[in-house]
Parts: sequence; structure tokens; C-alpha cells
Amino acid sequence: MRIVLLGPPGSGKGTQAQKLGRNLGLPHVGMGDMLRGALKNRTSLGERAKEFMDSGKLVPDSIILELLGERLEGTKEGFILDGFPRTLEQAKRLGALLEKERENLDAVINLKVREETILRRLPGRLVCSECGKVYQRANLSSSTQRCPSCGAPLLSRTDDVSDTLKKRIEIYLEHTHPLIDYYKKKGILQDVSGEGNPQEVFDRIVKILN
Ligand SMILES: [Zn+2]
Repeated sequence: MRIVLLGPPGSGKGTQAQKLGRNLGLPHVGMGDMLRGALKNRTSLGERAKEFMDSGKLVPDSIILELLGERLEGTKEGFILDGFPRTLEQAKRLGALLEKERENLDAVINLKVREETILRRLPGRLVCSECGKVYQRANLSSSTQRCPSCGAPLLSRTDDVSDTLKKRIEIYLEHTHPLIDYYKKKGILQDVSGEGNPQEVFDRIVKILN
């Protein structure tokens, strides 16, 4: 199965993608992880991406698509994609990339959460400085300052403050509306409520995929 997870910051998209990958035995392809991996391993694409990031620019789609193309090679059984696409243009380019391999997406899961839920969830978020995994402060034991997965120090996201956050949600909604319509027209969009605890959300997704 080839699945894309969409959702605003704080929708739990990354957590669900990881869980789903483990559950279905499919690779979880997270855009953030992929980019961090390329930077860390200093691949040629990583070096090119770094130039943009160092000068405070967004990494262009062409580089992202190349990275993704490399990553998706050898995932014939499928994948769970999270953090991409974010725009209609990217969605079309992803479609073209898959088409070349005579593949297509089976489902696009659109996680829906209320703004108040996002504002409540995000300030409690910790990100691993090494592997990029995201944790809810509330789900970790109070003494933990290290990543349960790799042991590196955890950082809190400084941009998770209300005003910046509201802006990020606005930008997200603005860019993803056309994307959601696009997948809706293709008949593969599935709206799933992202409210409640991670297990509840996961059960809803699994039910829809079955
Ligand atoms: Zn870690």
C-alpha cells in the first residue's frame, strides 16, 4: 500500500505514520527525517539542500523530489509518506514520479483537528536533536531529558508559541486546501478525526484502510 498522511502541525501525523509503518510492515518515509539523513550523511543532494537551508531559504521542490525518488526506490511493497506533499504542485510531481514506476497512491489520510486542540498539544512538544522523533512532554516520565529511541538530548520547539503557531496553521490550511481537493477528486482522500489519544486515532485509520 502507498499511503500519504496529511495534517496540520499538532495533528499527530508523524506519530501515526510511525505506528502505521510498524503495523503494516511498510517503511515510514518522513520528509524531515529524510532531509536530516541526507545532511548528516553529506550526500550530494544533502549538500545542495544545505546551501539553501544555510541561507535561510526553503529547499526547492526539485531537490526534495530527487531525494524522495531515491528514497522510494526499493519500496515496491509500499510506503507511508509523511510531511510531503505540502502543495498542489508537489502532489502533481509526486503523482508523476509514481506514474513512471507504474504506481499510484492507494489512500491519502487527512487528519483533522480543531485549532484549540493544536494550540493545546504543540507547546508540550519535544523534538529529538538527533533522530528528529517528536514526543509529547506529557507522555514522557518527568525526569527524561533524553530521546527514548536514541538517547540524544530532547529540545523543545521554540516556535511552538501561540502567534507563530496560529500563523503556521493558517499557512498550512491555505496551501493544503487545493491539495485536499485534488485528492478528493481522485477519490482517494479519507478524512479521519485526529482528536483523542494516539491509539484512538490509530484505530480510526486502520478501520478506514481495511
Ligand atoms: Zn532520538
